[in-house]
Amino acid sequence: MKSSDHPKGGRRDLPDRVAPAGSRKPADDHAPAVPLARPLGDLLRTADAGEEGRKSYALIEALYPICRSITGEGLRQSLRLLQGTVPLELHEVASGTAVFDWTVPKEWNIRDAYIKNAAGERVVDFQRCNLHVLNYSVPVRRTMSLAELKPHLYTLPETPDWIPYRTSYYRETWGFCLSQRQLERMEDGEYEVCIDSTLEPGFLTYGEYLVPGATTDEVLISCHSCHPSLCNDNLSGMAIAARLASLLRGLSLRYSYRFLWIPGTIGSIAWLARNEPVLPQIKHGLVLSCLGDPGPFTYKRSRRGSAEVDRAAEHVLRHSGHEFQVVDFTPYGYDERQYCSPGINLPVGCFMRTPNGRYPEYHTSADDLALITPLSLGQSLMQLLRVIHVLDENGRFMNLNPKCEPQLGRRGLYRQMGGIKDAAVREMAMLWVLNLSDGEYDLLEIARRSGLEFSQVAEAARLLGSSELLAEVR
Ligand code: ZN
Repeated sequence: MKSSDHPKGGRRDLPDRVAPAGSRKPADDHAPAVPLARPLGDLLRTADAGEEGRKSYALIEALYPICRSITGEGLRQSLRLLQGTVPLELHEVASGTAVFDWTVPKEWNIRDAYIKNAAGERVVDFQRCNLHVLNYSVPVRRTMSLAELKPHLYTLPETPDWIPYRTSYYRETWGFCLSQRQLERMEDGEYEVCIDSTLEPGFLTYGEYLVPGATTDEVLISCHSCHPSLCNDNLSGMAIAARLASLLRGLSLRYSYRFLWIPGTIGSIAWLARNEPVLPQIKHGLVLSCLGDPGPFTYKRSRRGSAEVDRAAEHVLRHSGHEFQVVDFTPYGYDERQYCSPGINLPVGCFMRTPNGRYPEYHTSADDLALITPLSLGQSLMQLLRVIHVLDENGRFMNLNPKCEPQLGRRGLYRQMGGIKDAAVREMAMLWVLNLSDGEYDLLEIARRSGLEFSQVAEAARLLGSSELLAEVR
C-alpha cells in the first residue's frame, strides 16, 4: 500500500497585512519562485474549447468499455489510463479498513458473465455490455428455470431497449440487467447462468494528483469514477478533471489544486477519513459530474450556501451566455454529500449540466457515447477554467487614496479622449474597484455589484495596484 506524499502541513495563518496588488509571494519563503510561469488568465484567452472538447471525448471513448466498480481492476485500469493525461497517483486502502462509520468492502473483480439458453446461445452477455451484470454480483454457476431466474433479472419496461444500471455493493447477491425486449424473447425452459466474479479481501483504489500553487491553501476537485460503461454520469467528470489538471500544471497559481478520482460515497468517505489534517487547507471545492450532455448548466451550491465558490460559479455562469440554473444544497447527489456533512462542512459545490436523475438516459445503457458531445464537454471545461480563474485571482483590496477620487489622468489611467468603448469599461471598472475597496468587499462582490465581468474588475485592480493606488488585504 502506498501512502500519500502530498503536503500535509497545517494552514499558514498569515497576519493581516497589506501588499501591493499583484505581488503575491509563495507562502514558503524558501521555495524558489517559478520564473515566468504562465498566468491562468493567459490560458483562458488561448484555450481552444473545441480542441479541449475533442480531447475529453477521446478520453471518454477509451474509458467507456472498461467495467468499473467501487473497487477492482476496472477502476485501477481506468486510473492508469488517465495517467496518460496527468500523472495521478494510485492509492490503495485495504478491505476491512474502518473509515468513519463505514468499512472498506471486499474487492470485486469480474471476467465474464452470461445467461445461456437450452441451445447454448448467450441470450445475455457481459462481453457485449458490462451493464448486464448487477455490479458487485457474487459468483454464481447454476442451471435454473426462467421462473427461478426471474427474481434476479432487472429491466426497464418503459424504455424497453435500454439496459438498466444496478448495483449491490453492501448486500451480497447476484443478478442480471437486460432490456425488456431481451426478457420478452426468453422462453420458458432451463437456462445456464454464470457470473465469473470474485469478491475477496483486497483494496479500494483512488487516484489523486496535486498541482502545487504558491500557497498550501487548496482547491479540491473531485469526481466519482466507479460507474461502468456510462458516459455522462461518471466518465465526463473523470475526463474533464484529467484535462483540467493537465492544463493547470505548470501555470502560475495562487492555490494548490487537489484532484481526486474516487469511487462514489465510500471513496470520498475513505479519503476524508485518511486526510483530516489536510481539510483546514481546503478553501474551495467542486464535485464534477454530468458535464457532457447538451443541457443547460447546473450549479449546486455548497451546504454553506454563499461560500466564495458558490458566488464564483454563479458569476461565471451568469456571464457565460449559456442557459443555467443555480440550485441550493440538498443532502443527496454525489460526493458533496460527504464533503458537506456537518462534521466536515467544506465549501464544496457540484458543477453539472443536466443533474443526476433529471435526464431519461440516467443510469441506463443510453447514457452512452451518443448522449455526450465534444462541444458540450469543451464548453463545460471552459466554464470550469473560468471558475478556477475567479477563485485564484479573487481578493480584498484597500484603496490607498480613499479621500475623494484619485486623479487617474495624471497617472495615465484615464483616457485623454472619449469614445473608446474598451477604455470606458476599463475606467468604469477602476471606479468601482476604487470605491468598494475598503477591505470588506472582494473583487467578486465588486463584479456582482457593478455588473462587470470578474476579469475586467481583476484587470482594473492590477492596473490600480501598479500605480500604487491599491493594495491587497491579506
Ligand atoms: Zn450515478
